[in-house]
Amino acid sequence: MSYKMYVRSKIDYCLQVYGPTLNKTQIAKLDKVQYRAARLATQTMKSTSREKLLKDVGWETITQRIDYLSICHFHKMITGQTRERILECLPPRTNIAFNLRNKRHFEKYPYTARLRHKFLDKSFFPRVAIMWDSLPKDVTLAPSMIDFKQMLSEHMKPKKLKILSYGSKFGNSLQTQLRVGQSQLNSHLHKIGLSNTTNCKCGHHDETTSHLLHSCPLYKEARNQLHEKLSGLLERSPTSYTRDALTQVLLYGVEPDNPEQYRRNKSIFWNVQHYLIITRRLCYMSKLQFVLPK
Ligand SMILES: [Zn+2]
Repeated sequence: MSYKMYVRSKIDYCLQVYGPTLNKTQIAKLDKVQYRAARLATQTMKSTSREKLLKDVGWETITQRIDYLSICHFHKMITGQTRERILECLPPRTNIAFNLRNKRHFEKYPYTARLRHKFLDKSFFPRVAIMWDSLPKDVTLAPSMIDFKQMLSEHMKPKKLKILSYGSKFGNSLQTQLRVGQSQLNSHLHKIGLSNTTNCKCGHHDETTSHLLHSCPLYKEARNQLHEKLSGLLERSPTSYTRDALTQVLLYGVEPDNPEQYRRNKSIFWNVQHYLIITRRLCYMSKLQFVLPK
């Protein structure tokens, strides 16, 4: 929330106009700011995959943000919520009512393809008019700005699962680290050269997320408590699930995009986060990461 209020609002300022003129290095710098904010919000490790983390928090990339803001601004213009002088710059409209097979809402700017490619690809009106034409019809016909933004978000932005941000900051951070596959478990550390071995302390050859959640004998008591709590929350006994299916439930919940399952998923998440905290396997090490040499 702080990132959106204090940082993204600054990045967003006129992004729809200056965004397309940014080069790859400049876009990468802005993406880096966003990535650091996502890491701060989730308390994940430095080596966490950017794509996995953005997907987990449900944030779009800077390039997607430029397109989203541009289309929102364009909608404001064509619905007359802007100045007259700006409306004069809109490309001429086509009459799509008489030509249902033609999806173009706006005429092309009258320049040759070579000039369009060279000068106008980054200009607001020619660029956004083409994006507008590619939107589904029901989105372009949304009755109000609020409906339009909601429909456009569903069409363009990554799906945000509310349940994934549930829990205490610390408990949620541990669960997120397992979801993005970058935690203090030896199998994760070994991949990035921070551990010499993938072995678990119990002697198992591969300390993975599945091993921590389902089979490590060191946390048997804590796991029994977790299964006891989950028995009342899941439709059948946790031990009757396959390991992969149970991992999915423990890290993402049951039907995570179904609002009717939110309350049940909250209870599942609370118990899983409690398990991760009392095993102390990730807690101790995740505090250690802040004192690891850079
Ligand atoms: Zn073990």
